[in-house]
Amino acid sequence: MGSDDFIAMNREYVFNTYGRIPIMLVEGTGCKVVDSNGREYLDFIAGLAACPLGHGHLGIAETLYNQARRLIHVSNLFHIEPQIQLAKILTENSFADKAFFCNSGAEANEGAIKLARKFFHDRGEHDRYHVITLDGSFHGRTLATLAATGQTKYRKGFEPPVEGFVHVPFGDIRALETAISAQTAAVLIEPIQGEGGVNVPPEGYLREVRDLCDGAGCLLMLDEVQTGMGRTGKLFAYENFGIQPDVMTLAKGIAGGVPMGATLATDKVAQSFVPGTHASTFGGNPLAASAGLFVANEILSEGFLARVKATGDYLRSQLETLASKHEIIREVRGIGLMQAIDLKMPGADLVATLRDQGLLVNCTADTVLRFLPPLIVTKEEIDSLTAALDKTLTKTGGA
Ligand SMILES: *Cc1c(COP(=O)(O)O)cnc(C)c1O
Repeated sequence: MGSDDFIAMNREYVFNTYGRIPIMLVEGTGCKVVDSNGREYLDFIAGLAACPLGHGHLGIAETLYNQARRLIHVSNLFHIEPQIQLAKILTENSFADKAFFCNSGAEANEGAIKLARKFFHDRGEHDRYHVITLDGSFHGRTLATLAATGQTKYRKGFEPPVEGFVHVPFGDIRALETAISAQTAAVLIEPIQGEGGVNVPPEGYLREVRDLCDGAGCLLMLDEVQTGMGRTGKLFAYENFGIQPDVMTLAKGIAGGVPMGATLATDKVAQSFVPGTHASTFGGNPLAASAGLFVANEILSEGFLARVKATGDYLRSQLETLASKHEIIREVRGIGLMQAIDLKMPGADLVATLRDQGLLVNCTADTVLRFLPPLIVTKEEIDSLTAALDKTLTKTGGA
């Protein structure tokens, strides 16, 4: 069967929830992936930031093989060695004291939202359950995380939304100050908005948010599902902004492409979850946690994050050079290896043209080309991207 047969079968047998690209990727090594016709691509999507160590990583493969031979799954009725070790590494290298493991970003955010509600409930503040989020944010597709997500298009048709979410304009500290009330349990923010278009908050904004939360006695929760695990050149993006949250969520890259999410918190907050309050059958199971442990050790190994920062800066400077040459680029945005160019036109056609040249990039928020390569991307691979972009933009927009 060729890829066309599979594409037809997909239409017949799989829910039509995705506007899928008409190729089927079957293998990969590092930043390269190969489709079912043997065509090679350079991957600047990396499973939407879920493959920080790239594809076909032998260390991850061996870890999974060895763990699978010992034990794939038990249940959180038992102590799980790699889960405990992963929790230790994540908390020792962050603001957090405790970790809870689940299977996705949405689930990690659900956990955070439940934790915020429970934290104030435990203090007798039963009306304090509102969570404030920002316009343009993305927090997931479950009912509560949809209600948290600051984009009405995703909620359409799924009304009524879960109660208790308030949205304020992105980067507007006065609007947030006005919105915070005695009912506010938490402010939930992506340090850099990913799906919303790689939006970096204005200088000083997150620090002011931290101050507002402290003043109001509510929690600051950071959704680092996309920005975490080294993506910005720091282990966690909040380190770029000189603040610490009370709660943080992780997923995407945390286990190198194996499904996993995590909710991290300080002891003070985490203690509101006691036996029976929150759970997940697969969360932090031996297989996923062993991969998470391997990935965390790699990212924390000597020189890894410094290399992410260096290649991130290089990608940034190459994109800036393109922006100075091509009128059609409105802005270059991002930190580390989470970078984007905002175009003065829709980006979908450009994405298809780049794909024809063997480059996989993602378009989000209609006009934004988002670059989320594996964190092991090389300067030469970045040069291939920017050369192809240069060529394509010259044809599309005129230099
Ligand atoms: C992708 C993403 C999510 C949702 O993660 P899933 O694993 O798809 O549930 C939540 N928040 C942010 C910031 C994301 O980028």
